[in-house]
Amino acid sequence: MAVDSTTPSALGPPACEKDRKALEFIEEMTRNADSVQERVLGEILRRNSDTEYLRRFCLHGATDRETFKSKVPVVTYEDLLPEIQRIANGDRSPILSSHPISEFLTSSGTSAGERKLMPAIEEDLDRRQLLYSLLTPVMNLYVPGLDKGKALYFYFIKTESKTPGGLLARPVLTSYYKSDHFKNRPHDPYNVITSPTEAILCVDSYQSMYTQMLCGLIMRRDVLRVGAVFASGLLKAIRFLQLNWEQLARDIRTGSLNPKVTDPAIRNSMTKTLTPNPELADFIAESCSDTNWEGIVTRIWPNTKYLDVIVTGAMAQYIPTLEYYSGNLPMACTMYASSESYFGLNLEPMVKPSEVTYTLMPNMCYFEFMPHVDDDVESEEQKKKQLVELADVEVGKEYELIITTYAGLCRYKVGDILRVTGFHNAAPQFRFVRRKNVLLSIDSDKTDESELQAAVESASELLLKEYDTRVVEYTSYADTNTIPGHYVVFWEMMTASGKLPTEEVMESCCLAMEEKLNSVYRQGRVIDSIGPLEIRVVQGGTFEELMDYAISRGASINQYKVPRCVSFTPIMELLDARVVSKHFSPSVPRWSPERRG
Ligand code: AMP
Repeated sequence: MAVDSTTPSALGPPACEKDRKALEFIEEMTRNADSVQERVLGEILRRNSDTEYLRRFCLHGATDRETFKSKVPVVTYEDLLPEIQRIANGDRSPILSSHPISEFLTSSGTSAGERKLMPAIEEDLDRRQLLYSLLTPVMNLYVPGLDKGKALYFYFIKTESKTPGGLLARPVLTSYYKSDHFKNRPHDPYNVITSPTEAILCVDSYQSMYTQMLCGLIMRRDVLRVGAVFASGLLKAIRFLQLNWEQLARDIRTGSLNPKVTDPAIRNSMTKTLTPNPELADFIAESCSDTNWEGIVTRIWPNTKYLDVIVTGAMAQYIPTLEYYSGNLPMACTMYASSESYFGLNLEPMVKPSEVTYTLMPNMCYFEFMPHVDDDVESEEQKKKQLVELADVEVGKEYELIITTYAGLCRYKVGDILRVTGFHNAAPQFRFVRRKNVLLSIDSDKTDESELQAAVESASELLLKEYDTRVVEYTSYADTNTIPGHYVVFWEMMTASGKLPTEEVMESCCLAMEEKLNSVYRQGRVIDSIGPLEIRVVQGGTFEELMDYAISRGASINQYKVPRCVSFTPIMELLDARVVSKHFSPSVPRWSPERRG
């Protein structure tokens, strides 16, 4: 469609009329960030004024920011647990939200070892859809011609469960892919994906991945971008190709679908796509049998312009591996979102991962920011008093994100630390700094210090009983050189009996640690997006050397604490040079989609 060139967006000339509207919307929201935020909070407070939660704080119908902030406390998930549990158990009265809770979104953040349950209301889907609809218009500003080909995106759903009260509990992306918004999306030439919806909606991850990869291979020349939501997902797809290319090539050669793909909807959808193509099969076999997989993505999909994948935050650890497989293709991190709410988008998606900033969209929810400093001297109470509005954050400062949502979370701490890098119009742009209290992460799992501590304690009980052996020190790191990545825990042990634990016992220790980790970790192990946990036993005195090293680099002897997670190369080298034995978990820990309790 011809675009009126007299009305270019401040972001750049739009690719089509639809894009112009989207870009104008971004401009309008960001120009009026503060008044949009005021309106959003007003709307939320008006509609939820009669909820049990808000009545508790006696707002008496006030919808202004000052009253809200002076009366409503800043909370964590644990503070809301009684309300969440009542809703999960079937209480349909307006507890948090006047609109009925339509489902729970299961966050990858955990509480007491289980996924957090985030309340969602029906109309949240529209808000998420709105943010998605802005991504392609922004991308079109930087990468022309995306309407001339397709996107190979690996999208998956996960198993759903029901709460005792009958509400669905599932990940936010599962909810979105199963919605009419996704299934009945209108054709958009700039957003055509190679994966059939039937494959995305198949809960069996092998059949889903197999079909999505097969379609990607068949349409290899049409593919202009390759992606997954997170970097770990894309690497999983590459690993899948490594393990399954022979069967995939066989299907392409014969035009008949692998019998292990049994889902009737998938089989039906593939009848037209899969036809015998010996030439393509030869090419796949030749490319994949090469032991050197450097640049495999661009060899198989030669027209790929970029990888569409989040590599900020915990995913940054995968950048070198993705660069290796893709021959240094640019990586576009397009959005920043969570189960609680979607937050914002990257207005310059082609910048280097280290320079990515997200512009929070003021219409998504009401945002507040709690100043964050690393060596904290101030109490939580003092910090709460310093909470600032979206429009008032200062460039260079770090903040903890706090949100109030339409579904009824009020002044809720998300747990993300963000740094302000600048503004687009009146809306601040943030670098994702890190998740608070996360030590280890491979996929969507997030393990904190106390969880790791509990896991080490649980495993070391096995040693103490039979071998009178103690774990005197430990540290850990996320090893992403293997696909999937896995947790490595370094142990220094002290034995009173002089008897060294057998290999079998050490393996049981690995499994005991895994059994103690949270349900997101255990699910990741079951679905093979996290590899077996490894214990590396180091020789006696290693942790003392580690301390000497830290002190030689300026750490204070009085304040030195063993880091419970390491990533600095010289420290890793020191530890690895002292390893006396390595042990892996022999099987997967228990996990079931049913929620406990
Ligand atoms: P979940 O609730 O499981 O959807 O996880 C949401 C969390 O994932 C956020 O609070 C962030 O910690 C992290 N996250 C989401 N998007 C990004 C991003 N673009 N970059 C870095 N971390 C992200």
